[in-house]
Amino acid sequence: MLNDLYSPRYLAAIICLIVVGVAANGMAAEPAWRAGVARTKITPDGPYWMGGYAKRTGPSEGTLQDLYAKAIAINDADGARVVIVTTDLLVITRELGEDVKRRVLDKYKLPASHLLLNCSHTHCGPELRLYRESLHNIPPEFARKMHAYVRQLETQLVDLVGKAIASQVPARLSFTQGKTPFAVNRRNNRAADVPRLRSEGKLIGPVDHSVPVMKVTDSNGSMLAVLFGYACHNTVMSFNRTSGDYAGFAQQFIEEKHPDTVAMFMMGAGGDQNPEPRRKVEHLHQYGRALADAVETALASKPRRVTGSLRAALANAPLEFQPHAARETIEKQVESTNKYERWKANYILGELDAGRIVSRKYGLPVQAIRFGNDLLLVAIGGECVVDYSMRAKAKYSHDAGPDIWVAGYSNDVFGYLPTLRVLKEGGYEGGGHMVYTKFPGPFTETVEERVFETLDRLVQEVER
Ligand SMILES: [Zn+2]
Repeated sequence: MLNDLYSPRYLAAIICLIVVGVAANGMAAEPAWRAGVARTKITPDGPYWMGGYAKRTGPSEGTLQDLYAKAIAINDADGARVVIVTTDLLVITRELGEDVKRRVLDKYKLPASHLLLNCSHTHCGPELRLYRESLHNIPPEFARKMHAYVRQLETQLVDLVGKAIASQVPARLSFTQGKTPFAVNRRNNRAADVPRLRSEGKLIGPVDHSVPVMKVTDSNGSMLAVLFGYACHNTVMSFNRTSGDYAGFAQQFIEEKHPDTVAMFMMGAGGDQNPEPRRKVEHLHQYGRALADAVETALASKPRRVTGSLRAALANAPLEFQPHAARETIEKQVESTNKYERWKANYILGELDAGRIVSRKYGLPVQAIRFGNDLLLVAIGGECVVDYSMRAKAKYSHDAGPDIWVAGYSNDVFGYLPTLRVLKEGGYEGGGHMVYTKFPGPFTETVEERVFETLDRLVQEVER
């Protein structure tokens, strides 16, 4: 018997059992993905001009929380690569997005379609829209700083992508979802009524309270990164101190609990969603904690293992603005008692006088990234309202198909992206916000269909 234990056949059987056992609990097979993460601090030095609330009259006043840009580079078994960059920033401007993508293509041979740039939309960080210098009369000292910051940021983001690529190791991916209810549809509920309406269960209007979570672990099972999202304006505070707002705190809380993990927040279709009630520092902590807890709960559940190959596609949806008012009307607006209307009128007249055409066409970047058969990530530019999330999920979900993750605020955050319903209803997101931008009028009624026509094509392309 003792001799039998050492027989080659017996030993082979034991080894077989060990291999099968370990493979069954997912620990033995060599991970099929490669992933690398990196982060860089992007808090501007000293006082700077803040973006997000046009009514601000002075620069930033100190730092409550630093701002970061973070990147994850993911390769499939065949070497196809996608990089996702998340930032504690108000916007990714079209110029910034295009410049970063061009330099990343040159330097790392990564096509624009395989790079996703998302911003958290914190309103407690720097202004990045250079045209606001003239539109909003930014004091020259701070306008100069804004230009210098944007140039530096561009280089930082390009380097960040390189660092994430350079740090890739064998990895496993999984996907799961949590939920947290602090986002309120701000078009359908008055802020002052929210506490009462919430306690009575009477909040109305579309919301998407889901918290998509992608977990990335190395071959030892250590969590390298957790990428998570939520569809809600990152606007708890409107003060002049630097912070990543609730999303910054959610990332901070997760990283405090998992010191070796990079936590990355990706903004969803939260254009018409607000965290309510808000405006107190305690709310920052409350919503940051609620979101971090939703991520932790999701991580503790049984995730869907993500396997297969990567495919990505990007295209511009051909959108169209309504024309700006006639010259006589704009000339009258120069005398308006509303300073934003005055500023906008002066801007448009300046363009017309300089012989430039205020273009009515706008190519809005939309992107689809497919992680095997398990996850389809759809990233839409602009401040897209929550209907985009609901419609994309309903449209692209099917039995045994991938989970759907809808990100907004990606690649080019030019302003609000209403659906047809919101456009027709009007109000701030429907077209009222246009006075704060350089664009002529609200979108035409084709806006939503143009986005989905383009998206449909991209989703088909990455399914093939
Ligand atoms: Zn916004």
